[in-house]
Amino acid sequence: MTGDIAAFAPGRVNLIGEHTDYAGGLSLPMAIHLGTTVTGVRGGDRIRLTSAQQDEAVDLPLTIDDPTTVEPAWGRYVAGVVAELSPTTGFVGEVSSTVPLGAGLSSSASLELAVALALGFHGMPRSLAELGQRAEQVASGVPCGLMDQLASACGTAGHALLVDFTTDEVRPVPVPADLEVVVVHSGQERRLAGSAYAERRASVEAAAAEIGALHDADLADVDRLTDPVLRRRARHVISEDARVRAFTTALAADDRPRLGELLLASHASLRDDFDVSTEVLDALVARLCAIPGVWGARLTGAGFGGCVVALTEPGTLGEGWVVRPGPGAFVSSS
Ligand code: ADP
Ligand code: MG
Repeated sequence: MTGDIAAFAPGRVNLIGEHTDYAGGLSLPMAIHLGTTVTGVRGGDRIRLTSAQQDEAVDLPLTIDDPTTVEPAWGRYVAGVVAELSPTTGFVGEVSSTVPLGAGLSSSASLELAVALALGFHGMPRSLAELGQRAEQVASGVPCGLMDQLASACGTAGHALLVDFTTDEVRPVPVPADLEVVVVHSGQERRLAGSAYAERRASVEAAAAEIGALHDADLADVDRLTDPVLRRRARHVISEDARVRAFTTALAADDRPRLGELLLASHASLRDDFDVSTEVLDALVARLCAIPGVWGARLTGAGFGGCVVALTEPGTLGEGWVVRPGPGAFVSSS
């Protein structure tokens, strides 16, 4: 095959179910119509990519020992994929994203998956997601869960994705066509995200070591935890799982007031029990929720800045990005 390759992978927004993926819990992310496209031609023995979003090009060999030292820095995501995939031929092409970079809509996962497909990945969406996750962990040094990559790999137009992270099973859930999903950036750069993320993950694992896997635990089990901080961390994960279930039911019933309540409850839990919100995010959620036509809002992504997701009646918000549920990653050649 020598023709032109075009690979696309979407970004994602997480509607509800935050910091549950690495706990084996539930999340309801949605692949969005914005994403990353990689176009080019296979051949040679180098991976050469330019990016419409970056000044410097990436030029890599097919064998990579340490992706973390690659320059420019965006090449580390590419190098992470190359190290995982071990392609036998090179690629010359261009990367272009419609998803904003660094905003919490997972441009990084969409880059990893589009690059993997362009370089010749063959396999099931779940394997693609796992490859992307390993590449992300190596490139960023953050022990991230599988949500971003699984949403990007398994996206289904018109649907959110109910993911059970004990089995990595994905069930598409229809999103009402006239329910608008809007992502509003807080203007606050995500800070401390790497180290604080690793600390939260370690807390969840410490809680599970005492009371068993959190997806099997209930709130009564939480009381057995002696450390008050671990109690709050575990209570977030366990209550968030229940909110994902309730949200999925409310989505099927198109019960918008209930969807809004659950978004706010998720935000409060992330703020009070998981300690990953900020005053800026809290103020943005409060301001958005006061606008008629906004059903609810909450921080989305790991927290510490970044974005808020809101559910609204169509055309309610004149700010932010309206995102539509779109298809998962795919590749075509001509
Ligand atoms: P998010 O995934 O929320 O957008 P991250 O910080 O995880 O934020 O990933 C953003 C990084 O991914 C960018 O700084 C860049 O290194 C890389 N990246 C994403 N999209 C592109 C692109 N189109 N071109 C080059 N690098 C990209
Ligand atoms: Mg990312």
